[in-house]
Amino acid sequence: MMHTFADRLCGMHLVAYILVLVGALNWGLVALGGYMGANLNVVNLIFGGVPALERIIYLIVWIAALVMLFQRGCEYCNEPLYTKPNPKPNSQQ
Ligand SMILES: [Zn+2]
Repeated sequence: MMHTFADRLCGMHLVAYILVLVGALNWGLVALGGYMGANLNVVNLIFGGVPALERIIYLIVWIAALVMLFQRGCEYCNEPLYTKPNPKPNSQQ
């Protein structure tokens, strides 16, 4: 069985990964919509009717990005987005 990138992530990092990906894809749509003179902001289109809810979605994506940035050294997944800490300098000698 072929393992994909997401197979190797624990639940927390998988959720964070998906949310950050969704956020990044949405940003591209915001830009493309700007060129086309249309609102392609999916978060805005779905939740824009309730601005407080729309902000909460953006906050959740932001928190997911913080998790990916700062939740390093995960025991449960391979953390493929991060470089592992370098081995101790002495270990190579
Ligand atoms: Zn993890």
